[in-house]
Amino acid sequence: MKLSKKAKVVIFLGPPGSGKGTQAKLLCQKFGLKYVGSGDTLRGRQKKNDFTGRKLTEVMNRGELAPSFIVVKILGDELEKIKKQPKIKGFVLDGWTRTDFEAILADESLEWYEWGKGAKVLVIKISNRESLNRLTKRRQCKKCGRLIPWIGEFRKIKRCDRCSGELITRVDDNIQSIKKRLEEYKKETVPAINYYRKKGRLIEINGEQSIENVFKDVLKTLK
Ligand SMILES: [Zn+2]
Repeated sequence: MKLSKKAKVVIFLGPPGSGKGTQAKLLCQKFGLKYVGSGDTLRGRQKKNDFTGRKLTEVMNRGELAPSFIVVKILGDELEKIKKQPKIKGFVLDGWTRTDFEAILADESLEWYEWGKGAKVLVIKISNRESLNRLTKRRQCKKCGRLIPWIGEFRKIKRCDRCSGELITRVDDNIQSIKKRLEEYKKETVPAINYYRKKGRLIEINGEQSIENVFKDVLKTLK
């Protein structure tokens, strides 16, 4: 299948545990798009030994979110780099629109760099209960460290599907911090979703399916 002309830029949203990062990366693999995730990019920015690099490390090590202006500035820097790659087919933004304020500024940034208003916005929807389940019940291989998501067929496996190592539940996925992340999502990110909805640009995907079926739905919306 071919991507529609409009779908060169795709923005992914979704609550913790929705698997939006996985879907974003699958989409990039399929169409040769560039994955632009805020987590990876901000971690990369920490390595630069300047004031912002050092402070970002401090703030993120405390488990706090980077402020919006830094996030948007770093997104702008990424878009500037992308502009230097004339052959680029498109890219997927993951984690840059945590608030409605950031969503508006991300739109302005995309327009500035002439990616137009055609960006598609996909939200992978799962319930609060499902989020909690996935984040508290996911398991990790003791031997190779592989994270086994609490999704679809993965729920049934008893040993690591890569190295057949023993699977353990990660205790650090504790309920308090997960609940805090979910509350933040509701308070900060749901307004961003509403912003896109009001503009008629929001596409909702049922995330409570296997990874493959969610991806099938993602592809349908991008035709
Ligand atoms: Zn393993």
